[in-house]
Amino acid sequence: MDVCDGFVGAIGNTPLIRLRKLSEETGCEILGKAEFLNPGGSVKDRAAWAIIKDAEERGTLRPGGIIVEGTAGNTGIGLALVARARGYRTVIVIPNTQSQEKKDILRISGAELREVPAVPYRDPENYVHVSERLAKELDESEPNGAIWAQQFDNVANRRGHYETTGPEIWAQTDGKVDAFVCAVGTGGTLAGVSMALKERNKNVVIGLADPMGAALFHYYRHGELKAEGSSISEGIGQGRITANLEGAEIDEPFQISDKEAIPIVFDLLENEGLCLGASSGINVAGALRLARTLGPGHRIVTILCDGGLRYQSRLFNPAFLREKGLPVPDWLSWRTQ
Ligand code: PMP
Repeated sequence: MDVCDGFVGAIGNTPLIRLRKLSEETGCEILGKAEFLNPGGSVKDRAAWAIIKDAEERGTLRPGGIIVEGTAGNTGIGLALVARARGYRTVIVIPNTQSQEKKDILRISGAELREVPAVPYRDPENYVHVSERLAKELDESEPNGAIWAQQFDNVANRRGHYETTGPEIWAQTDGKVDAFVCAVGTGGTLAGVSMALKERNKNVVIGLADPMGAALFHYYRHGELKAEGSSISEGIGQGRITANLEGAEIDEPFQISDKEAIPIVFDLLENEGLCLGASSGINVAGALRLARTLGPGHRIVTILCDGGLRYQSRLFNPAFLREKGLPVPDWLSWRTQ
């Protein structure tokens, strides 16, 4: 029998997909870890389960307890689904500027939503701070208590990738992996995978694929946090060194524009049949930069974070793409004419 134990048993052990056209074109083997195949649809299922498992083990999350987080993205979906599967409630605090599409996905996943005004991080009413305070309040007022997931600075997040994603990549390539590259949201994936790989072979090259609007490219290249421009990608683009990122060794930082990454999303759909979100395009663009830097003959692994169907109203909307000055594939316009 080959059976996994419920939702959390189905997280991880995702395939490594050879991106055939880009591998041929570069002379490198470019492999994408198919994180969109996780049961909640994204790489964040791993972090959600790692954070919840850690809280269970430490005894802070009690049966019937509440998980609180400030996120409109994949972490919220992952947390809500893991919570459903293990008998917890999830309360997600989001800015009221989020799209109806996102709110619907979260609600269907089982999250209770609290909408707050969209104000900057320095304002105490920012959704992240509200989620921290709400977790404290619910922990005192609710019979089974509450925890704050705190994905950015809770290192259970990167530990999940250190213990699963990294070792999986090592095993799937028989230890023959030259480089790994991905973008940073919390930094859990990049730091956890890079620590696991460097521990096994210190020569593995670690790349950072930083979208415009994020501050990490300048930090790892010049030692200074500095952001410029913007990106339509979601779930990535960090402005500070999170606890998850601390101590991560990054060899090759790249700054990737949407003009470079979004055509790759469409290329992967047209030539490989892979329908992916924009962050996967940023990651694969990073893998192509690394292929150019390292030269032919290398095996480069990256992350295919989530599926594209979550982004119908932006990434796959010709009007939105035109407004952002991004190219629209013919087949996408035909559908809507
Ligand atoms: N891509 C997507 C679509 C995401 O939602 C996230 C997580 N925010 C990431 C990439 C980045 O992953 P991490 O938080 O591990 O840096």
